[in-house]
Amino acid sequence: MQRACGDGPAELPALEDPGAEGEPDPKAKQNEPRREPEPEPEPDTEPEPDTEPEPDADLAPDPEREPAPESEPEPERPAEAELQTRVPASAPLTVQNPAEQGDVSLQERRPRPVARTRTKTKGKKDAEVRVPDESRGRRPLTVTVDSSKARTSLEALKISLRQLKWREVSPSIPPSSLLGKFPFGRRLPCDIYWHGVSFHDSDILSGQVNKFPGMTEMVRKITLSRAVRIMQDLFPEEYNFYPRSWILPDEFQLFVAQVRMVKDGDPCWKPTFIVKPDGGCQGDGIYLIKDPSDIRMAGNLQSRPAVVQEYICKPLLIDKLKFDIRLYVLLKSLDPLEIYIAKDGLSRFCTEPYQEPNFGNLHHVFMHLTNYSLNIHSGNFIHSDNANTGSKRTFSSILCRLSSKGVDIKKIWSDIISLVIKTVIALTPELKVFYQSDIPSGRPGPTCFQILGFDILLMKNLKPMLLEVNANPSMRIEHEQELSPGVFENVPSLVDEEVKVAVIRDTLRLIDPLKNKKKENRSNGLSTTTSKTKSQEKESWFQAERHLLPGIEAGQLRQGSRGPERGRILPKLIHFPDIFMDRKCRFPSIFHRMSPSKLQFSKFSIVRSEQCNKISGMREESREGTDEPQSADIFDAEAYMNNEASLPSICLKQVFPKYAKQFNYLRLVDRMANLFIRFLGIKGTTRLGPTGFRTFIRNCRLSSSTFSMASVDILYIDITRRWNSMGLEQKESDKNADPKKREVPAQGMCLQAFVEAFFFLAQRRFKHSSLQEQVASLVDLCEYHLTLLDEKRLLYSKGTSSGRPPNSSSSQERLPLTQPPNGSFLPRNNTANKFTHYRHPQS
Ligand code: ADP
Repeated sequence: MQRACGDGPAELPALEDPGAEGEPDPKAKQNEPRREPEPEPEPDTEPEPDTEPEPDADLAPDPEREPAPESEPEPERPAEAELQTRVPASAPLTVQNPAEQGDVSLQERRPRPVARTRTKTKGKKDAEVRVPDESRGRRPLTVTVDSSKARTSLEALKISLRQLKWREVSPSIPPSSLLGKFPFGRRLPCDIYWHGVSFHDSDILSGQVNKFPGMTEMVRKITLSRAVRIMQDLFPEEYNFYPRSWILPDEFQLFVAQVRMVKDGDPCWKPTFIVKPDGGCQGDGIYLIKDPSDIRMAGNLQSRPAVVQEYICKPLLIDKLKFDIRLYVLLKSLDPLEIYIAKDGLSRFCTEPYQEPNFGNLHHVFMHLTNYSLNIHSGNFIHSDNANTGSKRTFSSILCRLSSKGVDIKKIWSDIISLVIKTVIALTPELKVFYQSDIPSGRPGPTCFQILGFDILLMKNLKPMLLEVNANPSMRIEHEQELSPGVFENVPSLVDEEVKVAVIRDTLRLIDPLKNKKKENRSNGLSTTTSKTKSQEKESWFQAERHLLPGIEAGQLRQGSRGPERGRILPKLIHFPDIFMDRKCRFPSIFHRMSPSKLQFSKFSIVRSEQCNKISGMREESREGTDEPQSADIFDAEAYMNNEASLPSICLKQVFPKYAKQFNYLRLVDRMANLFIRFLGIKGTTRLGPTGFRTFIRNCRLSSSTFSMASVDILYIDITRRWNSMGLEQKESDKNADPKKREVPAQGMCLQAFVEAFFFLAQRRFKHSSLQEQVASLVDLCEYHLTLLDEKRLLYSKGTSSGRPPNSSSSQERLPLTQPPNGSFLPRNNTANKFTHYRHPQS
């Protein structure tokens, strides 16, 4: 399919480039082992077609389609928003056996003889060199991807794998030599596991999985709103890209009171609100209201919590239609944080001309809701393979059109990148808590990455607003077409294919374990069989990155930004402890003093040694007699890079750590989460007990004659009880989706309760500054005392043994000891982040 204007709006931002161009350092990935998996919370509604479904069983009908009336009830929907058009159910999408489709990569092959030679490399011990020798019948080493849980992303995944010449492995079609060898249900060890739904799809002991534990929970409407609100409390200007929201039923009275207050102050204010059920998708249960009294409190709100949000009344229109943007974001690593944004996305259009909401049109779903799943049922929906027309288009085509009208596209991109980075920064603290709980040290486990779907609305003034984040954005590359009344067929959708295949393929290229292995080998002095020089190789690995998004130059974002980034004087350098990453090692300063290559090697050997023995045994066992590569298979670097060179340039652009300098000051809650995790104590928990909280207070020296330990206990009980009672209401909704939740009583202090307690302590201690400054000062103070404590313990343990203090962490040891000469901590005075009262831009 032709792009609207060449390579599209590959312009990135006017963000200042701190110089971190190219590939981020992969050495600090979360190679932590994991414990027994727990079920991922699943949404309690059927998903929208731009959100991956979460069926219970592999063979469940594809829920992206309309459910069969006799098998599943119609989703609950407000009467006035009832759709006119409903589509009969169609048969579930059947996944063809790839072998039947002629996928050669899955055809069984006989084991082939392998040859190894030993050679001496300069200054290193004997290294194994893999010699390409097709004449001896060996195959190139390739990456294996388990696609058995890919669900609706299977087709796009298959195309990506074919383009990459990687091997798809699916236990549903085991090689004959393995029949009977593994018990039913056991999966083959692979390099990558591609899950359509959640991290917890099955036990994975190694490799990489395309989901983070807890992500589904984190991006639910209520959780996301809470996480963003914490950031709005701290950084109101920076987080004004998210509509003001209230959580129902908890905050109903607050909602009523705040609306009344603003109306009293400004009688001209005629707001509209949108009510969205928590965990809903597909526009399910959404309705618009003009007044808080219109909320349907009866019945379902109590059992199904919701978010009520200011409605953005003035969206940007194209062809008189409202549209939103689905942007794909790769969270490649949590710690260190690595974020990539796809340079193209999708724009989903309404199918009825837009009018600002009034009592006459509030219920017009085709006018106000951009959901594909809704609008596809409108008679006005246009399927088009042309990227410039139709009800679903590429985002690049929209930008081209805007550009032709003189709109500053770079500014839009710059604002979108800021929005994405800030949103991920809001999500990471709790994700880290989930992660350490699911993948604690001492057990084998995978590393994680995840493609997220960001739904963004451009306002008339071109400001992007975040609507929601999808943990499982739909990767379907086909759509339903009505051949004759009531008869539907799936047909390929070129717009979807163009965008989604590129996102999957390039995600795989970025996490390519062979590429990383190759880099590792290079740093360890192992040679590979290639005629290219190292610089040529590097050139070819990164050429795509460099060619992507031309026109991005250092300093552009800073200049181009109108928002808080513009001309920002960066606040005092904030240190972000990597407690999480190094927590598994427990010997931070030793690691800290090592050279990067040694560090990488040591981490690998300590963390992985035990699990690697087990896993490599398993791998070899499973590969025997299969078409999986043998350990002595060759890595034909030349062929590998030739293939790489034949692929299009990478469509994912790194934005973090690239722009870390501009955004690191926002990671205050992340630092609080590091403190929280440090005092959690028991492995696998996500909640802080009273003893952990007391220890935190003591170690950070936060109690005093005016704030006794008894007061600390009261604070803990008070806040924890309140949060847990809110949690219970939330759990009611979870119970519907996951019966196992019933077993889990809420006990202890969750991260958000800890944050509230932290805010209280900060306000108490540092009276004369803004909340952000108070909190930053308290975080500094806590880190300072913990660093001192760790150093003391280190000195003590050096005298007694070579061991390390049990609670130390590299991150905290890295913090500078910046206590002022008078020995007391002064509150920060961060002039860079002046607050103005949060008032929503469109209100
Ligand atoms: P769902 O997960 O059910 O799709 P969304 O939050 O994505 O719920 O909302 C559905 C649609 O409603 C969006 O695609 C958008 O068109 C519209 N929408 C949601 N929130 C707002 C808002 N605050 N202002 C204007 N339109 C909104």
